[in-house]
Amino acid sequence: MDTSRTIGTIHDNAVAIAIRELALDQILDYSASESRAEIGGFLIGEVRGSGKVVVVDHFLPAEHTRSRAGSVTFTHETWTTLTRQSAELFPGKRVVGWHHTHPGLGVFLSAYDLFIHRNFFREPWQIAMVVDPRARELGFFHWRNGDVHDCGFLCLTESPSTTSESVPS
Ligand SMILES: [Zn+2]
Repeated sequence: MDTSRTIGTIHDNAVAIAIRELALDQILDYSASESRAEIGGFLIGEVRGSGKVVVVDHFLPAEHTRSRAGSVTFTHETWTTLTRQSAELFPGKRVVGWHHTHPGLGVFLSAYDLFIHRNFFREPWQIAMVVDPRARELGFFHWRNGDVHDCGFLCLTESPSTTSESVPS
């Protein structure tokens, strides 16, 4: 049976975010692999409860990006690779959001980040995650009252007896 712990505030009037601990660990490890330039990736999972809950099952690092100290840019090749990898590795799952790092800058969405979210992640259940690997901070953002706001999340911990999924490395 899954157990969960809540970090931060869960809002009734917006999608609730649940992330599997394995995926969260993978994202934090990946985020810590680059402490200068921004890097990013995609959150893969499913939407449950008639759109009320989004579950993040897996993480896919973004490929073919352009990374700079203050931004990460997803290219045409990034999206093409995402579509192919997502279908191959995680059939039946959806791209429920995106992730990127802010090394040493803190957890927030910049004007450019909001532009990306509003244009490419406009479904009400699509979310954003920001990690500051230097400060060891993370945060999630979701659509609430027509705008993008920070929010809390649930971390799902699988007990060993029910861990049957294999996680591609
Ligand atoms: Zn950013």
